[in-house]
This record gives sequence, C-alpha cells and structure tokens, in this order.
Amino acid sequence: MTKIRVGMGYDVHRLVPGRPLFLGGIEIPFELGLDGHSDADVLIHAICDALLGAAGLRDIGHHFPDTAGEFAGIDSKILLQRTVALLKEKGWSVGNVDATVCAEKPKLNPHIPTMQKVLAPLLEVEPEEVSIKATTTERLGFTGRMEGISAYAVALISR
Ligand SMILES: [Zn+2]
Repeated sequence: MTKIRVGMGYDVHRLVPGRPLFLGGIEIPFELGLDGHSDADVLIHAICDALLGAAGLRDIGHHFPDTAGEFAGIDSKILLQRTVALLKEKGWSVGNVDATVCAEKPKLNPHIPTMQKVLAPLLEVEPEEVSIKATTTERLGFTGRMEGISAYAVALISR
C-alpha cells in the first residue's frame, strides 16, 4: 500500500546590502541580498524543511549545520539535491511542493517559471508540481519593512 506523508517548512533570512539575492535556485537582480551561512536561499530552505519534515527526518540545520565549514556559501540547490537523496534512501519520492515567498520587493512573479524549471529536476518532478507563489505583507512586519524575506512550503511525499 502506498504511504503518503505531508510536511511543512518555514524559513527567514535578513536582507542586507552587499549580498546577491538567491531565491528558488536563481539569482535575482536587486540592491539587497539575503544574509546567511549558505547562499541564504530562503525558498529552497523552506522546501528542504518541508521534505525532511514529511519524511520525519528532522530539519535542514540537523543535516547541514551552519557551523560546518563545508556549507559556507554553499549553493542551496546542492542542499536540496542532498535532501532529496536522503529521502530516496528511505524509499520516498516527492509528489508535489507548494510554497509562498513573502517579500515586499523585488517583484518575483516574472522569475517564478524559471525557479520552477530549476527546482523541478532537483526534486525529480515536473515543473507544474513545484508551485511557487509570491506575496507582499502589505508593508507590515519585518518583511513589509524589507528587513528580511520569509518563505513557507508544504511538500507531499510517497513510497
Ligand atoms: Zn535558511
């Protein structure tokens, strides 16, 4: 009998000057970037946590600690690839992912099809199974003040 599991993930990174902005596996031109130990791709991190959560494999910090030199400045696409490999070891494959990025700026909608194309092969699914939505928080809170960007994701996995 097929087992299905659902997981959720949430992540936040601070927006700072002097860093490139990586979101959904691509670099987006903007005057601020996300701060973090890796490339700080908040969307990929939320997706990794959703996948790990669905498989009962704890979280991204457990597998890829930000104290480890090997992960300094790492492309988060590698973390996603390794996350999917961890799930495959346990017999899981990805069904679909649905994510929301909360950012006041920049406009993300034009970049979403590219993000889907970049992330789908890493998740071993079709681009239409990688849903990415972008919203502002109506200038409210830390995302509204452009102090950071947050991302939520849910993932369905089966074996
Ligand atoms: Zn993160």
